[in-house]
Amino acid sequence: MTTNYGFDTLMVHAGHTPDKDTHSRMLPIYQTTAYTFDSAQHAQELFALKVPGNIYSRLSNPTVDAFEARINALENGVGALAFSSGHAAMFNTMINLASAGDEIVSSINIYGGAINLFGVTLRNLGINVKFVDPDDLAAWENAVTDKTKAFFVESVGNPNANIADLCAIADIAHKHGIPFIVDSTMTTPYFCRAFDFGADFIIHSATKYLGGHGTSMAGIVVDSGKFQFEGNPRFPQYNNPDPSYHGIVFAKDCGNAGFITRLRALVMRDIGSCLSPFNAFMIMMGVETLSLRMNKHASNTLAVAEFLEAHPLVEKVNCPVLKSSPYHERMLKYMPNGCGSTFTFELKGGRAAGAKFIDSLKLISHVANLGDTRTLVSHPASTTHSQLTDEQLKAAGISAGTVRLSIGIEDPKDIIADIQQAIEASSK
Ligand SMILES: *Cc1c(COP(=O)(O)O)cnc(C)c1O
Repeated sequence: MTTNYGFDTLMVHAGHTPDKDTHSRMLPIYQTTAYTFDSAQHAQELFALKVPGNIYSRLSNPTVDAFEARINALENGVGALAFSSGHAAMFNTMINLASAGDEIVSSINIYGGAINLFGVTLRNLGINVKFVDPDDLAAWENAVTDKTKAFFVESVGNPNANIADLCAIADIAHKHGIPFIVDSTMTTPYFCRAFDFGADFIIHSATKYLGGHGTSMAGIVVDSGKFQFEGNPRFPQYNNPDPSYHGIVFAKDCGNAGFITRLRALVMRDIGSCLSPFNAFMIMMGVETLSLRMNKHASNTLAVAEFLEAHPLVEKVNCPVLKSSPYHERMLKYMPNGCGSTFTFELKGGRAAGAKFIDSLKLISHVANLGDTRTLVSHPASTTHSQLTDEQLKAAGISAGTVRLSIGIEDPKDIIADIQQAIEASSK
């Protein structure tokens, strides 16, 4: 598939051509574990990596391949690898770069589940994740040691929709030979071209806007091919022959796709967090309408954010689309057409009003998810971020009264009417 096609064409066509055997126009669900070998010789050559092809669906599957190729085309990367969830994509990415004794520097303004994954589980494995305020550039710089293997941010932070200065953080990472990872779940490749702003690897929880309909868990990692592993003293595992994989030297033998090749060949092989073909198919259905949905998410978000900002019972709205937002200028630089549809606001009545507001909603669903066609609401302090200490909550900018919205693609007047009646009910 030529990448000269525009985004909307790639989102419908990239990664799949009609099936040669059946002429099926839609991507088939290849619900198979294994693939026949033509001969004993063919099997041997496949295992020795002398010829390309499918062996076993933990390593590759044609439906999953099509999803990987499509997102890779949309992000303009050199390769992508799909996972069973966004968290699986993050964990596997981190262990493709870091081992016990190593360090990672992460923004503190990230998904609550990711704070646990990094701050507890990775630390228990001996990978020390240091959290920093993403706007404190000196903190990124000061956190670097000889052991640092990655910098991590979310393109739009969850839940308060802060936007990190991607280019500035990328510059610090690259000055030290450290890869910069951007979780672009909130923006998708339609709104943010993170590779253009210095990201080396992009992660998506495809569970959210890429799938877009709240049906299926999935994650994906895309490699820009730009990070220099060759000769980089931080990454001996890319520069020394790998004993578990035919003595391959990933920084040399895979062109500029060493990272994504190692992620599949070693990490996926051993950890096995592979995506099911059925879920890949469901996410692909969503991707076909990505730009249409994201534009509607964005216009609805602007309407709701402006309504909330003007409401006398609303204390604060954290949404970069508002001109009053401290992140508005960064949004215009990094994601001029939209920043997703997930943001927070606080009612003047604090926690009690927030709880009453959520319980009074009729159209909007109270769930632990975002990026659905339906408008969703959650209360981070008691759900997604509930395992955080008060100190961590404060550092992440979450108060007891913070309410998170993920604006869907319904009629904006109906979303606003539901919010309006629930705010009124919350003050009684
Ligand atoms: C949901 C989410 C994740 C985790 O993805 P899952 O698919 O739920 O495992 C990671 N990052 C962000 C920004 C998310 O919103």
